[in-house]
Amino acid sequence: MIPSTFDYVKVRSVDEALAALAEHGEDAKLLGGGHSLLPIMKLRLAIPTVLIDLGGITDLSYVRVDGDEVAIGAGTRLFEVERDEVVRTEVPLLSHVAGRVGDPQVRHRATVGGTVAHSDPASDVPTGLLALGGSVVVQGPGGRRAIPVTACWTGFFETDIAWDEVVVEVRVPRTGSAGWGYEKFTRRENDWAIVAAAAVDGRVALANMAGTVVRATATEEALARGASIAEAAELADQGTSPGSDMHADADYRRHLARLLTRRALESAAAA
Ligand SMILES: Cc1cc2nc3c(=O)[nH]c(=O)nc-3n(C[C@H](O)[C@H](O)[C@H](O)COP(=O)(O)OP(=O)(O)OC[C@H]3O[C@@H](n4cnc5c(N)ncnc54)[C@H](O)[C@@H]3O)c2cc1C
Repeated sequence: MIPSTFDYVKVRSVDEALAALAEHGEDAKLLGGGHSLLPIMKLRLAIPTVLIDLGGITDLSYVRVDGDEVAIGAGTRLFEVERDEVVRTEVPLLSHVAGRVGDPQVRHRATVGGTVAHSDPASDVPTGLLALGGSVVVQGPGGRRAIPVTACWTGFFETDIAWDEVVVEVRVPRTGSAGWGYEKFTRRENDWAIVAAAAVDGRVALANMAGTVVRATATEEALARGASIAEAAELADQGTSPGSDMHADADYRRHLARLLTRRALESAAAA
């Protein structure tokens, strides 16, 4: 439960972070809120030689409307995403999923950039983002690029973000008053999702039904063909590959995906 020794660097700008990554190489790790990285360091599943703390980059913490999108700085804490009036009004699903992460202590530390980069298949915010669409903006030695959320999470704790890139922003389409739903099944209120389903604008994303958060494409296609919510939700687990663990076996997860998708779509339709 004690991490291996490491050096610590606190940076004040993204350029300083990139310079530190270039200097220390792939054995360095960026530190956001530390609520995922430090636990895995204590388990020695990650043994970085240097931690590059992004917490001093004050201009990475913001929420602003930018045309048809809401732009959220990667350093913004999930508590702020939950409470921010712009997010509540323009992207209420995102505010809600941020508010379903862990407990208040966790949400006060965890950052948007951290939850996106960590790529846990059970994580709430990436599930909401995958249903909403939009992009993850990263900055690397060659400048900035936008990764569509559909291409961001590539595997179990794997992303399209390179080791020498920093997540700087998440951009989400404004959904305004469009109906949405989020259903998260847990054993206890503050737990991680055993399975979760997010629905908005005919799109559905699922947590913990594969190595990454995934879209329920068969459900989406059925809805586009005019199927009822009940019929479409019955297809939610098609193409997924849930695992079995002490919380639920794969068949039960498939059942949950269908049930939670139906409930999320019903909530979206009722708005
Ligand atoms: C008790 C507890 C309960 C939790 N419950 C939930 C839950 O119910 N649902 C849920 O979704 N999450 C939950 N979490 C996870 C929490 O939301 C994570 O801490 C968060 O998702 C990761 O954000 P972070 O800022 O802490 O990232 P960190 O732990 O600092 O970093 C995570 C990873 O992202 C990288 N990283 C960080 N910032 C950047 C950046 N800007 N650019 C590129 N890479 C970066 C790091 O190098 C590291 O690999 C829980 C955590 C704890 C401790």
